[in-house]
Amino acid sequence: MIYNVDKETLPREDMEALQLRRLKDLCERVYARVPFYKKKFDEAGITPADIRSLNDLQYLPFTEKQDLRNHYPYGMFAVPKENIVRLHASSGTTGRATVVGYTQRDLDIWAECIARSLMMAGATRRDIIHNAYGYGLFTGGLGVHFGAEKLGATVVPVSGGATRRQISLLKDFGPTVICCTPSYMIFLHETAREMGIDFRELPLKIGVFGAEPWTDEMRRDIEAKTGITAVNIYGLSEVMGPGVSMECHEAQCGMHIYEDHFLPEIIDPSNGKAMGPGETGELVFTTLTKEGIPLIRYRTKDLSSLNYTPCICGRSTVRMDRIKGRSDDMLIIRGVNVFPSQIESLLLETAGLTPHYQIIVRREGPLDTMEVQVEVDEKMFSDAIKNLQHRERELQKNIKEFLGVTASVKLVEPQSIERSVGKAKRVIDQRGE
Ligand SMILES: [Zn+2]
Repeated sequence: MIYNVDKETLPREDMEALQLRRLKDLCERVYARVPFYKKKFDEAGITPADIRSLNDLQYLPFTEKQDLRNHYPYGMFAVPKENIVRLHASSGTTGRATVVGYTQRDLDIWAECIARSLMMAGATRRDIIHNAYGYGLFTGGLGVHFGAEKLGATVVPVSGGATRRQISLLKDFGPTVICCTPSYMIFLHETAREMGIDFRELPLKIGVFGAEPWTDEMRRDIEAKTGITAVNIYGLSEVMGPGVSMECHEAQCGMHIYEDHFLPEIIDPSNGKAMGPGETGELVFTTLTKEGIPLIRYRTKDLSSLNYTPCICGRSTVRMDRIKGRSDDMLIIRGVNVFPSQIESLLLETAGLTPHYQIIVRREGPLDTMEVQVEVDEKMFSDAIKNLQHRERELQKNIKEFLGVTASVKLVEPQSIERSVGKAKRVIDQRGE
């Protein structure tokens, strides 16, 4: 089922006409109301009247996270503060937090995008939705919450943490949909097992997972262990929050972008030049309808590609590929680019290993070294030492062969890597400390 048939199945030509109208309006608004954009447009020698086709987008300036930080907290807002009805902020794990503000209309659109997403995952108003995304300044919890209500479903606002209690609620309330990070889902499954509860016997049938990069191997692992259909949701607080794009349960192959609100581009991160469909580069969004904090060509640092081919679900909107990594997370080990997601794929292909891992990067003398710590499952742990050593060598060889870097691999006992209730911490970079 499709929540907004009109917008989600719009023919390409009509979608582009709508996007152009909205892009022109957006340029007028930011030029008139946000000094940062007036200055940027002036420096580029462009005025809103110069935007005559979608192709003119390439002449508009980029916006980066640092621009939001430089204008902390309210410098990028495009409406008077009394029109802002809610604030959210990023966690600020790497520097100053960024603040985003929403008008009532922004919140209404966000709720609709989530309602579209939940229906795309296979949910309807008859479902009970267990929302384990964190409630608070993080956009995950409240974002999903209001969309679930808009859909008319029953939302259980559990938020993150208190894992054993969550298992009890999953058993007692009988939700059919769960929303959380994929790593937390795995933790929930483990905890349930300890409590003697089999996920496959719960009424749960759909998992909406996002807020951290994950892989198809991890999807298959979750689906096999829990018996649910796992789909991928994408978003970022600067652009809106979760629900910028969503994977349909029919294809499970890339996330449909809500193009009537978010205009996507893929650029070469090294020079900013546009890249074609199917090519992997940095994802860039222009928020066509946002009022509170509209953004022109926001560089997400997420690496993906765009797919305009028709989808079996009947939607006509472009699909973005699963995030292949963040240029922020990209590790450069002795000159080789390495993404944690690549390591994850390899270890999930090795028997007896779990998706709980950490990558520790150190500098020894002039050289970077990388150590991958991976938990083994109970069965593997009880095996002879020589079997463990064999697996260590196997993974080490695969990392060398597929990623081109030398890593030391250390298999550790089950439950020894710290669990996260939100985004998993995959990389500990001790260089420069
Ligand atoms: Zn689809």
